[in-house]
Amino acid sequence: MAEYKGVMIYSEDTEGKLAAITTELLGCGRALADDLAQELSAVVVGSGISGLAQQTITYGADNVYIIDDPLFKDYRTDSYVSVMEKVVKQVMPQILLMGQTSVGRDLAPRLAFRLNTAATMGCVELAIDPGSKLMIQTKPVYGGNAQAIFSCASFPQIATVRPKAMSPLEPDTSRKGEVIPIEAGLDPSTIRTKVLEKVKEEVEGIKLEDAEVVIGGGRGIGSAEGFKQLEELAKMLKGAVGATRPPCDEGWVPAGAQIGQTGKIVAPDLYIAVALSGSCQHMSGCSGSKTLIAINKDPEANILREAHFSVVGDWKKVLPAFTNKIKELLS
Ligand SMILES: Cc1cc2nc3c(=O)[nH]c(=O)nc-3n(C[C@H](O)[C@H](O)[C@H](O)COP(=O)(O)OP(=O)(O)OC[C@H]3O[C@@H](n4cnc5c(N)ncnc54)[C@H](O)[C@@H]3O)c2cc1C
Repeated sequence: MAEYKGVMIYSEDTEGKLAAITTELLGCGRALADDLAQELSAVVVGSGISGLAQQTITYGADNVYIIDDPLFKDYRTDSYVSVMEKVVKQVMPQILLMGQTSVGRDLAPRLAFRLNTAATMGCVELAIDPGSKLMIQTKPVYGGNAQAIFSCASFPQIATVRPKAMSPLEPDTSRKGEVIPIEAGLDPSTIRTKVLEKVKEEVEGIKLEDAEVVIGGGRGIGSAEGFKQLEELAKMLKGAVGATRPPCDEGWVPAGAQIGQTGKIVAPDLYIAVALSGSCQHMSGCSGSKTLIAINKDPEANILREAHFSVVGDWKKVLPAFTNKIKELLS
């Protein structure tokens, strides 16, 4: 146990820039590393990604392990798990942080299994216990109705962190750090998966995960036509439209709009939940919203217990009145 040292974050990028979650992980990793008086490192894996190394330093890393190889052009479970296993065994960090993203959700548990340790998924708070020096990992459970606190006695302690749960540091271009290349040393014939095609999700307007205002619609909206009214309100508030699972399954909205346990996690300033019941699977994707407004015709719906403000009524009557009032205020 004594040989494990330092905090490491797994870096993700979007189109040549650090993903927002990576800057957030660097911010929180920096605080943990400072508490332990140890170093913060970042791991960057990909192809043609050398430019990202300096960006991670700018956001707080002391050193960066970089694996730049055409083999890693696309994320593939088998190759990325193998290379991360190699990096972790070589560097032996005490703590490894990843984003609660599709990559992090795929990678963290598999890596934990290979390293004979555990992973705590979807944390919203991380701290160092002053006595044991172990990482205290807090995550919402039961759809955000309770918080569970974990610590892990096996190393590395692995946690994934929800988007927007942590704050990035101000970027500082004068920060210096060491960039350490690592050879993947992976036999391409051991990679069993092939990426045949990549389909880019076309998003009009603001991305759901980045929106400060989200209008979430549920089964009670009843049709794709109904969702158009939600889009009108979202546009007015410079926000985005999300949904529960049934509207996605019905094809009223694209699958990418799903919020929840098996969808996206959002933490906007304002979440307006329209005609959705507030199932725990949905709430686990939006319980980080700062303010929650619910519109539901059933006074017993769980969402009304979760909401800060609520209107009991038919959304077809409530929403147009709400939209008109917003229009009036904005003009
Ligand atoms: C493994 C697993 C994973 C899942 N993952 C997810 C996930 O990621 N995200 C997700 O959302 N779900 C997920 N689900 C599904 C989840 O369990 C619920 O079934 C789903 O969230 C319910 O969606 P809903 O609230 O839109 O529908 P319902 O529960 O049917 O609620 C509809 C609501 O609309 C209200 N309503 C109806 N008409 C009107 C009206 N005219 N005006 C006002 N209110 C009205 C009703 O009162 C009701 O409260 C998952 C389920 C499983 C088993």
